Amino acid sequence: MRQNLVAGNWKMNLTYPEGQALVTELVTLAGPAVAAPGAPVVVLCVPFPYLAGIKQHLPESGFHLGAQNCHQKESGAFTGEVSARMLASVGCEYVILGHSERRQYFHETDDLLAQKLKAALAAGLKPIFCVGESLETREADETFDYIGKQLADGLFHLSNEEFAQVVVAYEPIWAIGTGRTATSAQAQEVHAFIRERIARAYDAEAALNTTILYGGSANAQNAKELFSQPDVDGGLIGGASLKAADFTTIIESF
Ligand code: 13P
Repeated sequence: MRQNLVAGNWKMNLTYPEGQALVTELVTLAGPAVAAPGAPVVVLCVPFPYLAGIKQHLPESGFHLGAQNCHQKESGAFTGEVSARMLASVGCEYVILGHSERRQYFHETDDLLAQKLKAALAAGLKPIFCVGESLETREADETFDYIGKQLADGLFHLSNEEFAQVVVAYEPIWAIGTGRTATSAQAQEVHAFIRERIARAYDAEAALNTTILYGGSANAQNAKELFSQPDVDGGLIGGASLKAADFTTIIESF
């Protein structure tokens, strides 16, 4: 059966000393909850330059390390880029792919993301693959068509074995960083739809086993209600992951 999971996405925030201080506080505050039986998997997705150093701050068991992007090629003359293999070599286990900010500001297409997924999986990383609609798409009543296409074009080319490594995150763009969270009913509706599409593309077992996260203004106040939904298996947390007390409350919200 699927794992609950909470991932913090720091995005382009905090200096390295600030990040170190946050992790130290987090390990103290949330450490017991993370080590408890039945705890969710907790992943910290930190900026590239911090990965190797933050890895040293994490206890042997408990917190996991993630990155926020990777290049689609294994290695070579791609100045300024970071490969999945490099991430794995510093102890990274997860990588966020297809975040709406990368799709929007860096023009990442479903086709490119399909390649990045392959690269991440080949390096042994677990991708956290994001989908989500804009406000315009939601208001035009095209949410399901849009997300169905993101899944079909970006994700469902994977083999059964590859797909088993993937975490899916539903992040409605209109809810990211806006303080406007999807209601738990809105989240549940889309999560159930995603699970149904996975069952169609793979099989019922794959659908049951896939962890599907909600992201978009999730916080210490609303996490419990969101996570109580049958198809919401945790969260991809932006702003609230930068505050140790709030992120701890979210980890404890199952
Ligand atoms: P916020 O939690 O800040 O809305 O960000 C969500 C997000 O984009 C996580 O990847």
